[in-house]
Amino acid sequence: MEIGKAEEHLALMADLGIKSLGLSGGEPTLHPEIFEIIKFAKERGFAVTLYTNGRKLSDENFVKCLKVTGLDYVNFSIQGGASHSREHDKVVGVNGAWRETASGIENCIKFGIKFNIQSVLAHVDLETYKELLDEFPDANLFIYYRQVSPVSLGKEFFEQKVLSNKGTKEIYKKIYQYAKAKKLKTYLFSRMPLCWWDANDDLEGEIMNKVVSHCHIINGSNLVIDVDGGVLPCPQFIGMKMMCANRAGKVLGTRNFLDRWKKGIPAKLRKDLRYVPDKRCLKCKYFLTKCSGGCPLVKFEIGPHVPE
Ligand code: SF4
Repeated sequence: MEIGKAEEHLALMADLGIKSLGLSGGEPTLHPEIFEIIKFAKERGFAVTLYTNGRKLSDENFVKCLKVTGLDYVNFSIQGGASHSREHDKVVGVNGAWRETASGIENCIKFGIKFNIQSVLAHVDLETYKELLDEFPDANLFIYYRQVSPVSLGKEFFEQKVLSNKGTKEIYKKIYQYAKAKKLKTYLFSRMPLCWWDANDDLEGEIMNKVVSHCHIINGSNLVIDVDGGVLPCPQFIGMKMMCANRAGKVLGTRNFLDRWKKGIPAKLRKDLRYVPDKRCLKCKYFLTKCSGGCPLVKFEIGPHVPE
């Protein structure tokens, strides 16, 4: 995105009262004017998080410049500790990528930039997560579950490659306990309905209070703008534009934007998705506050512990 356009979008977001900004990609660190964009966002009062593979941050000068911009957080995407470096390199398709990302993390520690580590919960054993917690104890560990696009990958992919709700619960309980014993923080960003956790069980009740289960599409609390000004339902759905934030090459003014956001396809999508996955959700005390029944674009069964 050309910098002038990026600044116009940020000005619109500031006018809309948005407080928190996530810069993602592709790979945002490859943008030639990434520092100017972050500075512009900070001047408008956003808390800014950079979502990155972290490779560019192996360069100390790059990290020093990020520090000067006032960047709030870096979210590193890394799929395991040192013993999984080969798998990580294979997944991202670059030899030595893991080492660069790990150096990026070390540089953030060195220059005092706060960071999180995000990893996807997949068919792996507990050791992977133990290793991440042990090797990067200064980070919050964000674990994403089913954070892949169900639209592009299809039902078959989910059935074969993605952990079940039950499998997720069992492995995350172990990760959580391991982290807690070491006084480290971990969060599960789950598409799993909240009632898959048993509020009456000590451990599951504790996790249930921390797990992130709701979907921002339904209450319209998140705005995702792609490189062409297209407004997406969520960052997973690249190419699925609900509306465009530009008209005739210019970014819309706040009133025009809100008119489309509140009355156009985004509003219809929110309304349609409100009725999944089960009518019992509509009477549930968690609905639209802590839970939206899992990702509304994936067919879920509600859990065994449906609240009265
Ligand atoms: S009943 Fe529906 S809203 Fe309530 S916790 Fe279960 S899935 Fe979420």
